[in-house]
Amino acid sequence: DPHHDSPNTIFALSTAAGKSAIAVVRISGPACMDIFASLCPSTSPPKPRRATLRTLYRPHTNEILDPGSIVLYFPGPRSVTGEDTLELHLHGGPAIVRAVLGAIPQAHSRHRIVYAEPGEFTRRAFANERLTLPQIEALGDILSAATEQQRIQSVRSSTSALSQRYEGWRAALIAARGELEALIDFSEDQQFETSSSELLRNVVVAVERLRGVLKGHVANAMKGEMLRSGISLALVGAPNAGKSSLLNRVVGREAVIVSGEAGTTRDVVDLSVDLGGFMVVLGDTAGLRVGDVAEGVGEIEKEGIKRAKKRVMEGDVVVVVLSVEETADGPQIKISPEVCDVVREVAGKEIIVVVNKMDLLPGATLPREVLDKIATSMPGLPPGRVFGISCTTEAGAGIQEFLNGLITIFKEMTSPVSSSASSDDWHESIGATERQRLLVEECIESLDSFLAHTSSELEEETDVVVAAEELRMAAEALAKITGRGEGAGDVEEVLGVVFEKFCVGK
Ligand code: GDP
Ligand code: ZN
Repeated sequence: DPHHDSPNTIFALSTAAGKSAIAVVRISGPACMDIFASLCPSTSPPKPRRATLRTLYRPHTNEILDPGSIVLYFPGPRSVTGEDTLELHLHGGPAIVRAVLGAIPQAHSRHRIVYAEPGEFTRRAFANERLTLPQIEALGDILSAATEQQRIQSVRSSTSALSQRYEGWRAALIAARGELEALIDFSEDQQFETSSSELLRNVVVAVERLRGVLKGHVANAMKGEMLRSGISLALVGAPNAGKSSLLNRVVGREAVIVSGEAGTTRDVVDLSVDLGGFMVVLGDTAGLRVGDVAEGVGEIEKEGIKRAKKRVMEGDVVVVVLSVEETADGPQIKISPEVCDVVREVAGKEIIVVVNKMDLLPGATLPREVLDKIATSMPGLPPGRVFGISCTTEAGAGIQEFLNGLITIFKEMTSPVSSSASSDDWHESIGATERQRLLVEECIESLDSFLAHTSSELEEETDVVVAAEELRMAAEALAKITGRGEGAGDVEEVLGVVFEKFCVGK
């Protein structure tokens, strides 16, 4: 079988299906020039890396498929996949695309020509070392980035710099292990001498330093995960405070039922919105019932309240919604103990307070005593976190200021923590994926075991052997991140997961 000694040549439509001005078909593999010769007979081959205008014909006929296509040829290995690649920029009519895709496998070639699997071009790029595994993950993020912050994050991690850092850490661990192993050999004929314990001391110091760097990386990666999956925002407040009204204002459409009857919002409704470039997941929650009213609460609503509390606990940012109420003594702001309890329970989360229904208050600003009352009933609330709003006035008074306050919090939450390393490095950490972060945590665990082993005086040779083994496992966790090196394991599984979200043609 002549097909067996060379890889398949793959082809696919790389642009979206349907009518468009231009459609790009990508081809990768040894049959590129055969396909060109079949589609564009009796013309000179395209110059590498130059745009060439060509008429495409159905192979073995003089029937024109596309009267004018731009053809681009990138000979391997300096191509996106590392193989010969050919790009055909066709007129984007669906019938033209269909005809060309049908004609490509009919080209005269001794190589097999097949339609590509999802992500197969990228898979070849990895196999030919054109891209690292973290770069491929970043590519997945680039393709799914929906907000400006997600775009910035994915672009930052698309360079090889992140992979290089993982490689650097792994090299450091391998070097440390090498030093320990020298110690094992050395101790074979004599007891540990001062010199050898000093050597061990140096290894321990180096491992401790690396552990600190890895910890910082994990903290930043978690911030990055928040950017990727969306910052979770939970609204809490008494029934009828205006949570649903506020949510609708923020989303800008009537997405959640707003009702004057207490307890309408029985379940948690999550909505994703772009706020100032941040992906935010908003959750409307059942109102937290106040005092005596709770006796009349039905079963379904109790369940709603339970879920609401759970949702608040899962949120990254908690928006406390208070409101002005008409009373016999005039308009007042009620701060229920239930709401204060929640604020106490979520201590450590970012909290922002809005006072809704400002339109009911004479004078548009919050009186000093109200601000003081909020500050004393919610100790720990940072200054500048209380906003007066009105959801039902036409312009939505105060809502823009509140949103700006929120965005400031988002920026603070997601800006990378710095350490001794340069700030650029920390920006890259933001792009680390959850998979990478979990493996770094695995690495840290091994380093912790290593440090536990070496904290006391090592007397036995076997102690050193165990400690060296911890370093080997730590290095393997890092090898799994890049998919290269000793102990990297099966990258196929990882690639499968990454490519699930890739489309055909990428
Ligand atoms: P939730 O139970 O906290 O979700 O409260 P809703 O959003 O359902 O609102 C309860 C009631 O308050 C509705 O009748 C709203 O029209 C009303 N409401 C909401 N925001 C304002 C506001 O800014 N001013 C006034 N006067 N009424 C409001
Ligand atoms: Zn509601």
